[in-house]
Amino acid sequence: MPPLTTDALVLRTFPLGEMSVVVVLLTRSRGKLRAVAKGARGPGDRYQSSLQPLSEVRTALYGREGTELFRLGTVELLRSSEPPNSNLESLLALEYCAELFEAFLPPDARDDDAYRLGRSCVTALKQRGSNGTAVMRYAEAWTLKLHGLYPSLARCLNCRQSVTGGLAFDRSAGRVVCTNCGSKRAEILDSDSRALLRSALRLSPANFAERTEGIDLAPIARFHRELIETHLGRSLNSSRVIESVLRS
Ligand SMILES: [Zn+2]
Repeated sequence: MPPLTTDALVLRTFPLGEMSVVVVLLTRSRGKLRAVAKGARGPGDRYQSSLQPLSEVRTALYGREGTELFRLGTVELLRSSEPPNSNLESLLALEYCAELFEAFLPPDARDDDAYRLGRSCVTALKQRGSNGTAVMRYAEAWTLKLHGLYPSLARCLNCRQSVTGGLAFDRSAGRVVCTNCGSKRAEILDSDSRALLRSALRLSPANFAERTEGIDLAPIARFHRELIETHLGRSLNSSRVIESVLRS
């Protein structure tokens, strides 16, 4: 049977036995799938650096229709995700964005919007002096938006009025409302951060990073974390790593 040849973004790899790894890919033609890369850990690793998070590859995959696990054939590196000077913040951001995309993508669903989002985040992170923190916030917002999980920043779901202040989490209804409808104590996004997101999320990730330069994005990080953890029922592994590394 001829292999399935497709472009893909690498999301994650994990070891399988002594010599192999399993690669989780966001493929252009079939969405998220898994493949075994035999010999990827042995001496003379044939895949070398092509399997870094969010690298874009053209790959041949072997396996029957509907298989849970393909076998990885050739891998041609189309675009490395490696940031200039191996910038630590950008490397952590790549790892984080890849984990975020993987956590939200359903298996086997083609998703060109997610693919384009991944590519544009890499473009932003490869720029010299890139702002990894801003790119992570952008990736979170758009991942939640693409999956229909991002609240409206403009109109309150409860009173249907334009939001002028901040947003609050209404726990009893499990949704985000304006601070007039929710209690001020339950505020999860302040007025300034909401206005910033409303104007800047239309930009590309690189321009978003530029626009938010010098602005404290911690309130937006908390807002997104609340939404992500409410949906997944857990936190992302790399968010804990980033907190401990960037704080020390
Ligand atoms: Zn309201």
